[in-house]
Amino acid sequence: GATGAAMTGALRFRDVSVSEVMTHLANTFMLSADERLGFDVVAKIFKMGYSRIPIYEVSKSNIIGLLFVKDLIFLDPEDEIPVKNFVQIFGRGLHVVWADDKLGDVLKLLKRGGHMALVRDVNDGDGSGDPFYEIKGILTLEDIIEVILGDDIIDE
Ligand code: ADP
Repeated sequence: GATGAAMTGALRFRDVSVSEVMTHLANTFMLSADERLGFDVVAKIFKMGYSRIPIYEVSKSNIIGLLFVKDLIFLDPEDEIPVKNFVQIFGRGLHVVWADDKLGDVLKLLKRGGHMALVRDVNDGDGSGDPFYEIKGILTLEDIIEVILGDDIIDE
């Protein structure tokens, strides 16, 4: 029945790992903190349609914060203001989780506030150098909800 299917779906999503459902870094729409919010960039932002944009400095794996698109409501593109001025640096809503964390735990974290998490993993290279953290992608509540609903559909 519908209730039973929903129950198993809700139980199973908890054990799915973050890496299975995250949006990979290569597919993540990001901006450099040094970019300026002129017409072209603003048009691109609206065209992409995302509400949160990770902002990086120097390299794409060095994410310093988030740009909330709704903060651009009063922006005048003629002013060419740097992205930097709009970044919420690790302020509201930016969590960091591990690629092998389970969705059940991440959901608990996101429920306490925030909507997006950065996904990191340890990069051991070929084992000859020091291991380092690497950002692998992003995960939002939406990605978790999709797993919950997806399970439900398969069960039916
Ligand atoms: P939005 O509110 O911006 O549409 P959601 O949280 O509803 O974002 O997520 C919808 C999907 O888009 C998810 O798969 C999420 O991982 C992805 N997503 C969210 N923001 C970005 C972004 N800046 N670049 C690429 N994918 C994103």
